[in-house]
Parts: sequence; structure tokens; C-alpha cells
Amino acid sequence: MLPKFVGQPGQACADSDTRLFFLESTERAAKAICNTAPCRWRAECLQFVLQMTADRDRYGVWGGTTPEERRLLRRERATRRFARDAAQVARGAAQCVELWNQGWLIGDIAHHLGISYAEVYEAIDQAGVTYAMVTERNEQAQRNTDQAPTAQPQ
Ligand code: SF4
Repeated sequence: MLPKFVGQPGQACADSDTRLFFLESTERAAKAICNTAPCRWRAECLQFVLQMTADRDRYGVWGGTTPEERRLLRRERATRRFARDAAQVARGAAQCVELWNQGWLIGDIAHHLGISYAEVYEAIDQAGVTYAMVTERNEQAQRNTDQAPTAQPQ
């Protein structure tokens, strides 16, 4: 399927020889067309090629970039995504510990944050909470429930 910008007004390479964009020896000239014309579709063009898997995207100047530049771009994006995910996990773990310190039960924390019991346990375990402490809190909660007065019929 052709990208949507092919044949559209403002596509700087429309009148160029396509081979220019697919030969290593003419990469600079192709990039100049993308970047100095400048092409109105540059962002879409780059986005289009970056949506391909890295092993499919091995040829051609697209959106003003060479395959090597796109390889680096993908790596940078993956690194940023990984850092963002790691930050999210760290924030989630901090919330678990905070709720635990406020006296919450593991099950309630898991339900509140929409994560598994194991994930909560792992987070609070890192903060020094032991299995015995978890059991003690669960048992205490059970005792409180057992002792709670039940409504009597009038
Ligand atoms: S960015 Fe370059 S390759 Fe893409 S449409 Fe524009 S001129 Fe053509």
C-alpha cells in the first residue's frame, strides 16, 4: 500500500527520480530534497516508515532520514519508552508502600491500583515488609470483622 502523501501537492520528491532515494551514493541529494525543499509531507513520511518493523525498513531516504538514522531514532525511542515504563513501575511501587504504611491490606491495594497481589507484595517486600507482617495484618482485619457488632432487629 502506498503512503497517503504519494502524488499529493507539496510532496517535494514528486518530480524526482525515485532511484535517487534508494542508492547510498545519492542519499545526500535525496535528503536535500526532503529537507531543503522543504517537503510538506516530511513528518507523515517519517512516521510512515517508522511504523514498519526495523527489519523491513532497510532501504531508502524517507522523511529526510537514512536507514541508519532511523535505526538510531528507533533505538532512542525505545530507550525513552523503557525509561518511562520503569518510572511508571517505580511510581506504582511507591504508591503500594504508601498505602501499606497507611494500614491498607494487600488485597485492597491491589484492587485500588488495578494490579495483582503479587505485584503489591513484590513492591512492599522491597520496602522491608515481611510475610509475617502481611499475615498479622490480615489476621487483625479478620478479628476486627469478627468482633464488629451486627445490627440487631428492633
Ligand atoms: S519527506 Fe522526502 S521522501 Fe518523503 S515525501 Fe517528502 S520529499 Fe518525498
